Amino acid sequence: MKYYFLGLAANYSREERLAHTFTRGRKEDLRDLENFLTRKYGGKRTILTKNGRSALTLALRANFNEGDGIIVNGFTCYAVYEAIKEAGLVPIFADIDLRDLNFSVKELEEVKTANPKGIIVQNTLGNPVDIVAIEQFAKDNNLVIIEDLAHSAGIKYPDGRETGTVGVATVLSFGKDKAIDTISGGAVILRAPHDNPIRAPKKAPKVSDYLRSRLYPTFGVIARVLTRVHLGGIFMRVLVKIHWVEKSADNRLDLTRRLCRFEAARALLQVKSLTYGGERPLREFCFVKNRREVLSKLKAAGYYFDGFWYEKPVSPERYYRRIDFPEEKCKNAVYAAKHIVNLPTYYRKKELEPARKIIAEYLEEKK
Ligand SMILES: *Cc1c(COP(=O)(O)O)cnc(C)c1O
Repeated sequence: MKYYFLGLAANYSREERLAHTFTRGRKEDLRDLENFLTRKYGGKRTILTKNGRSALTLALRANFNEGDGIIVNGFTCYAVYEAIKEAGLVPIFADIDLRDLNFSVKELEEVKTANPKGIIVQNTLGNPVDIVAIEQFAKDNNLVIIEDLAHSAGIKYPDGRETGTVGVATVLSFGKDKAIDTISGGAVILRAPHDNPIRAPKKAPKVSDYLRSRLYPTFGVIARVLTRVHLGGIFMRVLVKIHWVEKSADNRLDLTRRLCRFEAARALLQVKSLTYGGERPLREFCFVKNRREVLSKLKAAGYYFDGFWYEKPVSPERYYRRIDFPEEKCKNAVYAAKHIVNLPTYYRKKELEPARKIIAEYLEEKK
């Protein structure tokens, strides 16, 4: 029987895992990545950060003032919320369309009265927003667009433009399972003159963060092997307990620490090979009835698909409790969080076929 996990660096091939573990980082790798991103996204300046949320914080600080309202997808992760708060801004959650998990102009119109100053475009799970309409909406309402490409680096908008070439700032995450994945890291490309000065982080990464990043793909492969004797879950839980592995949501926002050099080298290769065409979404999604039952059936068949995006409108659940989320106004996001199952697109079709069969029995009509 085969076992398939979401996460655990399962998207890393053997070669990538070895390269990730042993690539020697050099100072020039940071400069090379900065220069490449600045050119690629038509930016003025690129800043490399510890993670995506730190990059997003810098993008927001550069372009907004304390107390400004910013529209954000009502189906997102805590990292985004945390960055908005850290920048001193007020999140305005817009509900989503269940076809693509993104807000459309219809949902934006509904939150207009909250007096927003900007919009974070998220392209959830690699599904692009209707950028032309959103750009027009932004223009009509004097809003600034920030593009968060954590899920969507390397795809195109419906009008043919690449993601990351529209807003005043482009934010990348290099975190686990993101469109570009070096286990941790982030970047912000500032594409327009901005009002507020921001400083690039200068301090070297913490040794513990460096080691966690280096070792994660190796731990992942050990966990997958151990799963065959039903010990994978315990192994990972112990690693989390002793802080050798960090859950993505717990990766600290830190504006003082830069990206690891070796991660810059790895990220540059990945950015260079983004293809823009025949693209696959980051994850496929569907909605199911009685998700708990589906998950236990999947588990019995050797698939571990929990920890999907997203189990709460602002995920994960343990952070959701801290947030005053407008569930009444974001009914679709609440529905999606309750019913969604998503499948990674890096497994071969055949590997996921039995899982699809199980899921098919529980499918809800897409609305
Ligand atoms: C993961 C993620 C980020 C940033 O994540 P980090 O873990 O801080 O790198 C930003 N936006 C979205 C939508 C994400 O999913």
